[in-house]
Amino acid sequence: MNRYPVLHGVNDLRMESHPIPALGPNEVLLRMSKVGLCGSDLSLMYKGKLGDYVMVPPLGVGHEASGVVTKCGSAVTTLKPGDRVAVEPGDPCGKCEFCRSGHYNNCVTASFHASPVPNPGCLALYFVHRADFCFKLPDNVTQEEGALIEPFAVAIHACRRARVTAGTTVLVCGAGPLGLLSLLAAKAMGATSILVTDVRPERLETARKMGANYTMLAGGADPQKEAKRIEEVMGCMPEVTLECTGVEVAFQTAIYATRSCGAVLMVGLPSVDLKLPIVHAGLREVDILGVFRYLNCYPIAIDLISKGVVDVKPLITHRFKFDEFQKAFEFFRNGTDGAIKCMISCD
Ligand SMILES: [Zn+2]
Ligand SMILES: [Zn+2]
Repeated sequence: MNRYPVLHGVNDLRMESHPIPALGPNEVLLRMSKVGLCGSDLSLMYKGKLGDYVMVPPLGVGHEASGVVTKCGSAVTTLKPGDRVAVEPGDPCGKCEFCRSGHYNNCVTASFHASPVPNPGCLALYFVHRADFCFKLPDNVTQEEGALIEPFAVAIHACRRARVTAGTTVLVCGAGPLGLLSLLAAKAMGATSILVTDVRPERLETARKMGANYTMLAGGADPQKEAKRIEEVMGCMPEVTLECTGVEVAFQTAIYATRSCGAVLMVGLPSVDLKLPIVHAGLREVDILGVFRYLNCYPIAIDLISKGVVDVKPLITHRFKFDEFQKAFEFFRNGTDGAIKCMISCD
């Protein structure tokens, strides 16, 4: 029997038991290990929506996950029982024009187990998934690190889209999980001057520990003044801004702060349409780039962690047992005790 929480409506998450479905030839059965909670899980749980998607229950929960292979479909040759894997929660069709042109994250079937999460999600005792979207973890990468591959892959995809390279000057707005992982990704790609902003001083402390060259307490209501402060602290206007908050004034600041011909990456998803100084962006050729999930980023993320180039572990601030999922949601929502990443054990 499988057990997993199912979202039936706003703030209505119930544990249910269901049989484990039969395996397709190219699928594996995973005994789930660790699942991290994400802002999108919170948005669905407490607001019933995510971006412009309005929840249609029942929904599963969780998409930042690691597990152990317990059974392989008849055609699976790349994995065997006992292999520890990070789950890339997607199921692109491989046939549409986007898949065929190398943009499987924009597959027309939109079959991502993340936005929204189908039922069941990765937060479950067992999860059936296609083998080619399960990535084997090296011996020195833990199951907790494995569960952080998913959000880290988002940050890597954003930095690759922004063409962050040796010497790039980078502004990261927001020091939540995605902001901190964006900091690590930018650093790993060679950015030498990175400023991280947040409204919470304790998060800036974490950003400094994780390698930020500069930090700045945000919170001013005037985005142009905020941009000026950023330039003063960095000694230049950043070429790339990774906007990880989805908050209007932060996004406005991001546009004003980014130097001409630079780029603002939408890493954080705003929950409503924002009023942005788009003329200012247009006249200075500041590109605003969307970021949707990741594209062939899992192997890079795993390698960066395995080779010791980045350390993602400081992100994990709180750990919960499988049956404490309600408590984990509450902790994460309230930011209790400086909660950054709440990790739930399924094993
Ligand atoms: Zn997520
Ligand atoms: Zn497709």
